Amino acid sequence: MHCPFCGANDTKVIDSRLVAEGEQVRRRRECVACGERFTTFETAELVLPRLIKQDGSRQPFDEEKLRAGMQRALEKRPVSVERLEAALAHIKHKLRATGEREIKSLVVGELVMAELQKLDEVAYIRFASVYRRFQDLNEFREEIDRLARVPAKE
Ligand SMILES: [Zn+2]
Repeated sequence: MHCPFCGANDTKVIDSRLVAEGEQVRRRRECVACGERFTTFETAELVLPRLIKQDGSRQPFDEEKLRAGMQRALEKRPVSVERLEAALAHIKHKLRATGEREIKSLVVGELVMAELQKLDEVAYIRFASVYRRFQDLNEFREEIDRLARVPAKE
């Protein structure tokens, strides 16, 4: 691929490894012309189901939007990018595994919450409070109490 620094045609791969539980390949590349190094991530492009919104409209699955939403919830939390990518990979895997061509966006929201709960409970609460739009403070408190009763995961 072209060098993003100087535009030269020729770059070589100097390191290659699997990330996100093998769903992604991370490559370190070096430009043959200017010597700059950069990283690329390669993911298989498989068709994901379209999302059915609550108003019945359909939207293509948007991985960037999903990642951004999860990053917002995880802001300043001690969760590595690798773990976030692995969680995203899980969600996509589950969506593909349904074999459906269209799926309710609510289902995706539930999958995201399940993954966030495993990653970080603060992030989970942040996401859930926006996503579920807790009706009032009591409902929010009930959810926190419920979490407090769930034994911590390893
Ligand atoms: Zn270059």
